[in-house]
Amino acid sequence: MQVSETADAVVVGGGTVGAWCAYFLRRSGLQRVVLIEKRTLGQGASSRAAGIVRTQGGTPWAVRLGEWSRKFYLSQHEELGTDSGFVQQGYLLPCFTEADVGAARERMAMQNALGLAVRWLEPGQVDVLNPTLAPGRTLGGTYCAQDGYLTPPRNVTAYAVALATSGVQVRERTAFLGLQASGDAVTGVLTSAGPVSTPLVVLTGGPELAEVASLAGIRVPAGGVRHQIAVTEPHRDLAAERVPMVFDLAAGLYWRPEEGGLLFGMSNPDEAPGAAACVDEPYLALMRQRLAELVPVTASLGLRRTWAATIDYTPDHSPIIGPAISDGQVIAGVTIASAGGAGMMWGPAIARATADVALTGTSSVVDVDDLGLDRFDAAGNSRLGTDPIALPFPEHAPQAPGNPAIP
Ligand SMILES: Cc1cc2nc3c(=O)[nH]c(=O)nc-3n(C[C@H](O)[C@H](O)[C@H](O)COP(=O)(O)OP(=O)(O)OC[C@H]3O[C@@H](n4cnc5c(N)ncnc54)[C@H](O)[C@@H]3O)c2cc1C
Repeated sequence: MQVSETADAVVVGGGTVGAWCAYFLRRSGLQRVVLIEKRTLGQGASSRAAGIVRTQGGTPWAVRLGEWSRKFYLSQHEELGTDSGFVQQGYLLPCFTEADVGAARERMAMQNALGLAVRWLEPGQVDVLNPTLAPGRTLGGTYCAQDGYLTPPRNVTAYAVALATSGVQVRERTAFLGLQASGDAVTGVLTSAGPVSTPLVVLTGGPELAEVASLAGIRVPAGGVRHQIAVTEPHRDLAAERVPMVFDLAAGLYWRPEEGGLLFGMSNPDEAPGAAACVDEPYLALMRQRLAELVPVTASLGLRRTWAATIDYTPDHSPIIGPAISDGQVIAGVTIASAGGAGMMWGPAIARATADVALTGTSSVVDVDDLGLDRFDAAGNSRLGTDPIALPFPEHAPQAPGNPAIP
């Protein structure tokens, strides 16, 4: 395969973050944008996700990234002639303890102040809104009717179309091998198909970002861990109009309608980081039990599909958008991007902000000052608090890269 010898920008990783970033760079006016993907487009986490798009974030930047992405999904058809299959379903975050209620009300005030239409539902209102939920179980909850979900494989198709129609040069089955630099500025990348000269590089990699970055001599405290999904067989009580999406935050369990049944996903907080090679059946059984307590009709339903895949995470559950740093020095021209395990809800916004930062050093999508690599100390501890609305991912990155994600 021939790889162009020069490019205005090279983006590494053909997942939702890298691909939309390459598209935004091209749309910003760069002539030659090259996307390097070691497998094929979408073969990382991006095609295997549950597709939840939640604007009800636990931090102001999470809210902004979610809302920007939601609006992007709604505008895609006009912009691209195709879309990621976004469905506005509504999302309920139920509370089960008084402490949950206090935290939820505080969060809602922050979200409302940022313009989100999140409202508080009393216990009776929760039961009316969601007749599949065992009645009388909650102390109320927050609800946003505008939250929804997309179809991850359709999102891969949408960005493949966007890349092709905008003229991004996609190099599949081409691995990034390292950077070329002069002084503290990048001059090109090394790939399995030869070098490419370029003054701008964006490094993504989802669950493999730490490995990608280490090829460039950059330490990124991020990792991958198993996340698993199951879909029940259909049942008339689970018709989509009766089932808002629900996040049982304390249990790390969420669900949404899918093909007349429920799609539910979970992460085991006690699981060590590493690639997911198979479904953890005992943990799936535990989650089925929790789901059946809350949605009794699921107790007798068979499972239509189950899968496990490696989800990306950062120790503070927040995204990374910012310049590459090696030995305390910024590498001029290199920008790092991670969705921190929320690439469906935040991906396009992170991609847009990353393209902005690569081109101008700043972005109007979100204030990136706190989101760079410089928030982590040498041990990978973040100076930011942990985003409270996240799956129970590990809170420490693996000590050293070497945690490859097997798709
Ligand atoms: C089971 C599951 C469910 C999920 N559910 C949700 C959800 O409901 N909502 C949500 O917001 N998020 C969800 N996520 C998380 C979301 O899928 C990810 O955050 C997102 O896909 C990350 O996108 P990415 O582009 O950073 O990474 P990826 O999609 O993993 O893409 C990275 C790409 O980099 C490539 N690559 C790696 N090394 C190299 C190299 N050396 N050279 C070139 N290319 C390389 C890989 O092959 C891969 O294609 C889920 C994830 C999983 C696994």
